[in-house]
Amino acid sequence: MSRVLTTCIYCGCGCGLYLVSDGKKLTGAYPSRNHPVSRGALCVKGWNSYEFSNDLNRLTSPLIKKDGKFILASWDEALELVVKKFKHYKDTFGSDSLAFLSSAKTTNEENFLMMKLARAVFKTNNIDHCARLCHASTIAGLSLAFGSGAMTNSINEFEDAEVILVTGSDTTAQHPLIGSRIINAVKDKGAKLIVIDPRRIQLADMAAIYAQPRCGTDVAWINGLIYVIIEENLYDRKFIEERTEGFSELKKVVEDYTPEFVEKITAIPKEKIIEAARLYAKARKSMIVYSMGITQHTTGVDNVASLANLAMVTGHIGFESTGVNPLRGQNNVQGSCDAGALPDVYSGYQKVTDENVKMKFEQAWNVEDLPSKIGLTVTEIISAAGDGKIKGLYIMGENPVISDPDSNHVRKCLSKVEFLVVQDIFLTDTAEYADVILPGAGFAEKDGTFTNTERRVERIRKVISPPGQAKADWEILCEIAGRTGYKGMDYKHPSEIMDEMASLTPVYGGINYDKLEPYGIQWPCPTKDHPGTPILHKEKFTKGKGTFTPRTYIQPAESTDDEYNFVLTTGRIYWHWHTRTMTNRTSTLERESPEPYVEMNYEDAQNLQIRDDQLIKVSSRRGSIILKVKAGNIVPKGTLFIPFHYREAAANILTILAVDPVAKIPEYKVCAVKVERI
Ligand code: SF4
Repeated sequence: MSRVLTTCIYCGCGCGLYLVSDGKKLTGAYPSRNHPVSRGALCVKGWNSYEFSNDLNRLTSPLIKKDGKFILASWDEALELVVKKFKHYKDTFGSDSLAFLSSAKTTNEENFLMMKLARAVFKTNNIDHCARLCHASTIAGLSLAFGSGAMTNSINEFEDAEVILVTGSDTTAQHPLIGSRIINAVKDKGAKLIVIDPRRIQLADMAAIYAQPRCGTDVAWINGLIYVIIEENLYDRKFIEERTEGFSELKKVVEDYTPEFVEKITAIPKEKIIEAARLYAKARKSMIVYSMGITQHTTGVDNVASLANLAMVTGHIGFESTGVNPLRGQNNVQGSCDAGALPDVYSGYQKVTDENVKMKFEQAWNVEDLPSKIGLTVTEIISAAGDGKIKGLYIMGENPVISDPDSNHVRKCLSKVEFLVVQDIFLTDTAEYADVILPGAGFAEKDGTFTNTERRVERIRKVISPPGQAKADWEILCEIAGRTGYKGMDYKHPSEIMDEMASLTPVYGGINYDKLEPYGIQWPCPTKDHPGTPILHKEKFTKGKGTFTPRTYIQPAESTDDEYNFVLTTGRIYWHWHTRTMTNRTSTLERESPEPYVEMNYEDAQNLQIRDDQLIKVSSRRGSIILKVKAGNIVPKGTLFIPFHYREAAANILTILAVDPVAKIPEYKVCAVKVERI
């Protein structure tokens, strides 16, 4: 048996684990004792992360759809067809008739290559990936405030915080190893926890203050906290004067957000607003932790910018155990953004509209005319495919039929696109619409790097070979580029791709595979001798001075009415991951949570005469699903929660395609639904 150190495929914690294999199959996984995140522990997904790789339903050969059926094809046939079709659309309808969806499950190197393929070979900026659906608001909101859209501090710093404000993050379920750091901080070191979340999450039980706001009212309660902090003179005058700009504008906007006014909007008792403001502001080391409960709103950028205001007004940023800490969802969603799989930036967030940046990439890639028009986002790409504007769509490792809002709309659009390529490890719901399916490799079958939520760039290592004829995703992308006649994507190993990415990406400038041994390094790492950066914005913000960006409360896109009288919010659970293509092939995880359900408050269940475990129909203006009820006190009266993992009752059939105007992130966290007994 061999054992190889690698990085977990599931969440953004980025735990280090050993995969065990007999040379052909994976037979187990166990944690690295010395890895700074895992420290000898994994959550249940990590322990079982080896199992899905051996599943007999893996895609093992390219497939081409003929007369509505998938037929086995050779790599030659499949790749020639992809290149022929994409070249034809480019020549006939222009480069922007093509679009590419990259993947937060694949490596940094593969995301870098996907954006190189889109930009250098097919000359379009129509490239995006699922970060649009989870943390696009973080990138936009924190960039406005600080100049950098990443987690400001490090995972291990939670244990030394005096106060931790957790909002919009079911941390123990979705980032379990970070959840355990927070529990350690409270239980072992006496940290005080403030939890503000519409769901009564596990951490609420150990919180000093727990408040349950109405869904979609975050700007109001954050402004309320800032109001109290200013009113009671708890703000950090020196920090504000020396390191920030725009305080007087903030002061003016928040002066309306008295605790009484905030209580009316949010349903948080005014006493709790005052108590939380005092607790957060008075501590020396206060950390903010948030996730998609904050970002997945039509006001996602406003929510994030408001949290940044809160940290700056108290000076709780730029020091150990402070900061604004977005927990990135997928294993490599941070890295996919860093690598430039976004429609407006190259790797390292260098703008496609900047002429000097464009020239740098043209020179390095030996091409002319890189596109400078900002491309389409995920949801825009899907809609444009439905409108016939996108003729050729390439989806690598994503499953928008289950993960994107308004699934029926997504299905309609994908059925209309002229030519769809799906590259994946399983036949997903999205792959069923494909014209060509290319079998990719799982995380244990290739080399590369992931970047976790604390900006730690770390290695994944090849343990076994991909099944059948499947290939590493980077190899497939290189073959496609080569078949178009482009000579600049001929790599022998992913380390060469990282070397190229580092040479073009200042924050990765000093990174190479040797430097990443054994447990990775946190960017910015601009030079070869740089030790990496655990804490951002120490002496000054990335953009110089931090900017207060005051925001007023705006209602969610869809409100309840007499017919659609429940608020629906969606999210993840501990046992499953994303669209469940891997976790439903993992026996322990599937056994613990095998079917879809909806959380409902006891009182609502009683009023509607619905028993626990009874099947009900939940409908929005976009569709209906049938699933079992879990009655309890996790959600407040009038609110429902449905995990979005289950294709059998896909929550995204119900969600609304309303997006934040800046980040274009959909409002997964609020829509109006009705409930019927069946
Ligand atoms: Fe994997 Fe996240 Fe669990 Fe760690 S906490 S083992 S990275 S799923």
